[in-house]
Amino acid sequence: MKSQVLILYTGGTIGMVQTDQGLAPASGLQERIEMAMGASLPDLPSFEVLELSPLIDSANITPSSWTKLVTTLATHWQDYDGFIILHGTDTMAYTTSALSFMLGACDKNVLVTGSQIPLGMNRSDATSNLQAALSLACSHPITDVSLVFDGKLMRGNRVQKVSSGRFKAFATPNDELLGEIAIDMQLHSKRMLDKPQEANPQSLSERALTFKEGAVAVLTLHPSQPISMYQSLLDDENCQAIVLMTYGAGNVPDQNSAFLGFLSETLLRKKVVVNLTQCLHGGVSQGAYAAGSILSTMKVLSGHDMTLEAAFCKLHFLLAQGNDYQAILEKWDTNLCNEFSV
Ligand code: ASP
Repeated sequence: MKSQVLILYTGGTIGMVQTDQGLAPASGLQERIEMAMGASLPDLPSFEVLELSPLIDSANITPSSWTKLVTTLATHWQDYDGFIILHGTDTMAYTTSALSFMLGACDKNVLVTGSQIPLGMNRSDATSNLQAALSLACSHPITDVSLVFDGKLMRGNRVQKVSSGRFKAFATPNDELLGEIAIDMQLHSKRMLDKPQEANPQSLSERALTFKEGAVAVLTLHPSQPISMYQSLLDDENCQAIVLMTYGAGNVPDQNSAFLGFLSETLLRKKVVVNLTQCLHGGVSQGAYAAGSILSTMKVLSGHDMTLEAAFCKLHFLLAQGNDYQAILEKWDTNLCNEFSV
């Protein structure tokens, strides 16, 4: 019997149509996919499209969307051989990161894809991305939640959207590819997570954590910024962690007393601070420069070479699991699913 894939359609360019306000998600995707893929259908696994409601532009993603996705996967896990999530590219890297922490190593493939031009439009990349995802959905075991895009298979928690205009929209600046989809398909299984000990449990639904909206903030350093930003982060009791986007190897303005005061007050109030570089490639090396060494003495955590998306989602994940400030300090350096290089 042909393998059966469940396609979860969340919205995004791949299923959008032109409206008076610009591109917007539209339903009826199963039919449109079948029409667009025509002659290649017999060579692919059969599939069913489940449209999530409401269909969204992924700019509207919130952590509760990740909960909804895992709940939906849990409901259908036993009924299908593989899963594809169709998602807008804008926040795809957040969703693939969040799902990788929530699901861990999977015994069935969970692949995420989308496109830069809607399905059915001239020069669209939707068909090739979807054909690649369908070809991989049940044929080879892929334990990591992964992104399939422009002929590449990428670990979900290492991807970043790097272009709004090119078909090559995603990259993993600090990670090797998990696979290449060209004339031949080349998969690098050794780079993937170890197979889970047992088939993904009935308890998959327990992984659908409830996130605390607004619990994680991102503060990007610039040569000068309004001091009021600091105070509002300090006063927001809902905000329990901050990703600090620093310069180069993880350096901060260590001559700026307002900034240093903000940092020590943040930690005093037991808000976690993670140091991440603004550079696309490479990681932080706290202490390589005197201007960064102060962070280690202050219990600021190194974000290693994680992407912003992965660090943001890992903090949300740890908080949603109920970890407090001290527990996060202890667990942060555990590499949960290859989200940083060792
Ligand atoms: N704005 C769209 C979205 O993220 C962009 C895309 O899908 O490429 O939903």
